[in-house]
Amino acid sequence: MGEEELSRLLNQLRETLVYLKEDGVEGFYMESEGRVKDTMNGREKPKARSKEELLEELKKEVEACFKCEIAKSRTNVVFGEGSPYAEIMFVGEAPGREEDLQGRPFVGRAGRLLTMAIESLGMRREDVFIGNILKCRPPGNRDPLPQEIENCEPFLERQIEIIKPKVICTLGAYAAKTLLKTTAPITILRGKFHDYKGIKLFPTYHPAFILRNPHMKRQFIEDLKKVVEFVKGV
Ligand code: URA
Repeated sequence: MGEEELSRLLNQLRETLVYLKEDGVEGFYMESEGRVKDTMNGREKPKARSKEELLEELKKEVEACFKCEIAKSRTNVVFGEGSPYAEIMFVGEAPGREEDLQGRPFVGRAGRLLTMAIESLGMRREDVFIGNILKCRPPGNRDPLPQEIENCEPFLERQIEIIKPKVICTLGAYAAKTLLKTTAPITILRGKFHDYKGIKLFPTYHPAFILRNPHMKRQFIEDLKKVVEFVKGV
């Protein structure tokens, strides 16, 4: 390219930039390795990542966590699964044997009951997000220890921050008491909407309790119906 041609192109570029600046364009961003560079003032800022990417990164962190003894006996971390855009997030207590083996939440008998209840309300498991307070299985399905809850809860908090559900439906006493920071009995908390950092939180029974008390199943489905009606604005 000759000198004259180059000078003409540079002038054209300068004029275009002046027009753009008058139109309010302040710079351009160039992508490189997860950061973007503002070409007009040279500052760098982090590239916005999708919910999928954020959850994937968090999952890797959880998989690398060995803060509790129970991490040593786990077969798999049970991070949780479902839609990153879910309006409803179910939170249980901790993975059981089947969940530990498969690395997926609520896939044992209690999980099948939960899935059936979700589907009976016209939704699919993939439409919601299902997680737990603990991501590792306590041996013999014992109750979570306070230290385990303290270590693991920040992961759940970050899942909630990323997904930003309209409502969190806690399953059983541990999840409700942990998130609501209360010692109130589940009988008092259940079946009402509470506030969790500006998000509605609705405690209901744990599906394992429903398996042991089948006469409560109707009440359980009624609770979930209230949650679904809330997100649908009914
Ligand atoms: N019980 C829970 O609380 N969570 C599961 O994932 C399975 C059973």
